[in-house]
Amino acid sequence: MKKEMKNIVIGIIVLIVFIVAGVHLKQRMASQLAASKEKPVEPSSSKITKSVETIEYDLPLSNSEKRVEHPTHVVLHFTSNALNKPQDPYLIEDAYDIFKESGVSTNYVIGRSGEIYSFVPENRVAYHAGKGSLSDFPEYNDRLNYYSIGIEILAIGTCEEMSTMIPVENFDLIDSDLVGYTEAQYQALNVLIEDIVGRYPGIKKNRAHIVGHDEYSTGRKTDPGSLFDWSKIGL
Ligand SMILES: [Zn+2]
Repeated sequence: MKKEMKNIVIGIIVLIVFIVAGVHLKQRMASQLAASKEKPVEPSSSKITKSVETIEYDLPLSNSEKRVEHPTHVVLHFTSNALNKPQDPYLIEDAYDIFKESGVSTNYVIGRSGEIYSFVPENRVAYHAGKGSLSDFPEYNDRLNYYSIGIEILAIGTCEEMSTMIPVENFDLIDSDLVGYTEAQYQALNVLIEDIVGRYPGIKKNRAHIVGHDEYSTGRKTDPGSLFDWSKIGL
């Protein structure tokens, strides 16, 4: 009789163990099934895809680095080859070589006819802003490259703005039509900025987030300078 009782107790214990294990397994399977039904993380619709037509003109990878931080800024610049070719300062090949050889870079270059060149993909940090500071973003001191997309516009500033880059004699050789910005460049810039702002929630379309190099590196840099008309890009 005692032995029978013992067997019954053992039988009940084994049964309980099976029931508990069964419930546990069922719960696990249910959670796995739920997980498999969850949608994979996808970029929100087409917004993440660049919709602007660009001409790919990649600089070597050594001129940039992988982006880690989410960009919150756009920095506008001007660039040209006025030092070497004051009469033909806007050849894209020359701009490319200047960046390549100096080890600096930009994400985009906007040509005189409004064509947009991609020099460094947005998922990489381009070396365009260098040292500087923004009063609203003290944590970005000398680090704006990591938080920004750089756009260089093929343009030349005033004689005074160019004085640290080219001698006055060279400036005098530049056709006055080549000084300043073209309407096609403003149009292209509008399209590019709208596209960027639509894809990065951290970049607001205002003057706190879209800045000139001369505002970040005041005293050291003069681009995009006084000839750049911010109102033409709605800012
Ligand atoms: Zn600049």
